[in-house]
Amino acid sequence: MIRLKENVELPSVGLTGFETPLSEEESAIQGTVHRFAREVLRPIGRELDRMTPEEVIAPGSPYWTAIVESAKLGLDPQLIAEFPPEVGIRIESIIGEELGWGDAGLAISIGAATMPMMMAQSVGNQELIEMCAGKVGCWMNTQPDRGSDAAILYRQELGMGGKQPVGNVTAKVGADEIVINGQSSAWVSNGAVAQVALAYMAADYGDGFFGTGEHSMFTNGIGVIIPLDLPGISRGKPLDKIGQRSLPQGEIYCDNVKVPKRFAIALKDDYLGNLASTWSYAGTHMCQTFVGVARSAFELALDYGHQRKQGGALLMDHQMTHLRIGEMLRRLEMARAIARRALAYSRLSPSSHPYATAQAKVSVTEEAMKITHEAFQLFGGNGTTREFPIEKIFRDVRSALIEDGENYILTSRLGVLAGELYQNGWTKE
Ligand SMILES: Cc1cc2nc3c(=O)[nH]c(=O)nc-3n(C[C@H](O)[C@H](O)[C@H](O)COP(=O)(O)OP(=O)(O)OC[C@H]3O[C@@H](n4cnc5c(N)ncnc54)[C@H](O)[C@@H]3O)c2cc1C
Repeated sequence: MIRLKENVELPSVGLTGFETPLSEEESAIQGTVHRFAREVLRPIGRELDRMTPEEVIAPGSPYWTAIVESAKLGLDPQLIAEFPPEVGIRIESIIGEELGWGDAGLAISIGAATMPMMMAQSVGNQELIEMCAGKVGCWMNTQPDRGSDAAILYRQELGMGGKQPVGNVTAKVGADEIVINGQSSAWVSNGAVAQVALAYMAADYGDGFFGTGEHSMFTNGIGVIIPLDLPGISRGKPLDKIGQRSLPQGEIYCDNVKVPKRFAIALKDDYLGNLASTWSYAGTHMCQTFVGVARSAFELALDYGHQRKQGGALLMDHQMTHLRIGEMLRRLEMARAIARRALAYSRLSPSSHPYATAQAKVSVTEEAMKITHEAFQLFGGNGTTREFPIEKIFRDVRSALIEDGENYILTSRLGVLAGELYQNGWTKE
């Protein structure tokens, strides 16, 4: 059947573009988060962007207003879990996109803040749930010598004869206690402010850091929730960086930090599966966030095209601008479709995989970069000044190509996964 129209009226379109109708509940959630993004995240994000990293995290900084106000929204992931899964996915993507539209750095900060709590809920540990309640969290995974190498899943990811490095944060696991030493990378999102960490690291269970047999090139690991007020924990200087300046990053140092073993959420055999689950989750959040960031760049370009005159007419009256705006919108729709497909796969597939989520993060952030680059270009010289917000968005998106995994590495890991799947029979029927 062809759905017949009487005339060619303008299509239905919403905040999230060419969207199928939202339910009343979805519309209400979208409206609330959009207002929060417009009235709180966006102005605060711009203010924080011009502050020093020390000022951003100081008591009384607008950063804390954003965190307190976001908690009031009640966007508890448990709430999403109450919806049927297909609805939950739509709602999760709508929320993530609006937060990213408001401010990239704050959207990431708000997302990272809940990660220890979500892990505590996932493993169903009441003591850890209570410990994480109302606290700003972080995901402490990468280290100075263990960046891309922090999450190696297949032998093919190592050079010939290479080994995964032990890294700079290590755990000695005893009968009742874990002793942690070393420093995280400076990139840990919320590292400068977090009160609790979901941490992953190489671990020695009494027989060294490396596995045996076919695992001898990989380190054993542990996942643990660490209260960051334990004796022996200190912080580096908050990181000064190009983009997402509203996101407080920084090193976390551990000097003989003693953590009860019951705070571990994944020991030796559960380590990789648990890390993969956290990474998959983080990737889906990155995807929705950077669709929102890309949308904000597109909207600015569309508006500027209707303000700026050159060649005797508004930019928007020139054919070349139609092409450029059309290209941006096409890429935005594509990024959103990929972001939602990866989110659905991650939540609904009986066996999801972090490289499936990571490839979507690559596609979304690469498209976001192209859209933002083109929007920046459309602004001409104005784009290069701090008076126009497009330069901030350009800087924010640039970091995303490395955040949560560097994009070339993630793409090459997808190739490794394709090879593994082929060996297992995929595409051979
Ligand atoms: C904004 C932002 C937020 C972040 N948030 C967090 C966080 O919350 N928690 C956390 O733990 N980490 C976080 N990170 C760290 C992030 O995950 C790492 O930066 C990323 O995984 C890359 O690691 P690296 O920076 O050490 O680069 P490296 O791994 O050193 O990579 C440098 C270059 O080497 C190349 N390379 C690496 N390995 C290979 C190889 N095997 N073969 C060929 N080339 C290779 C890469 O392609 C890259 O171009 C964040 C980073 C950013 C920028």
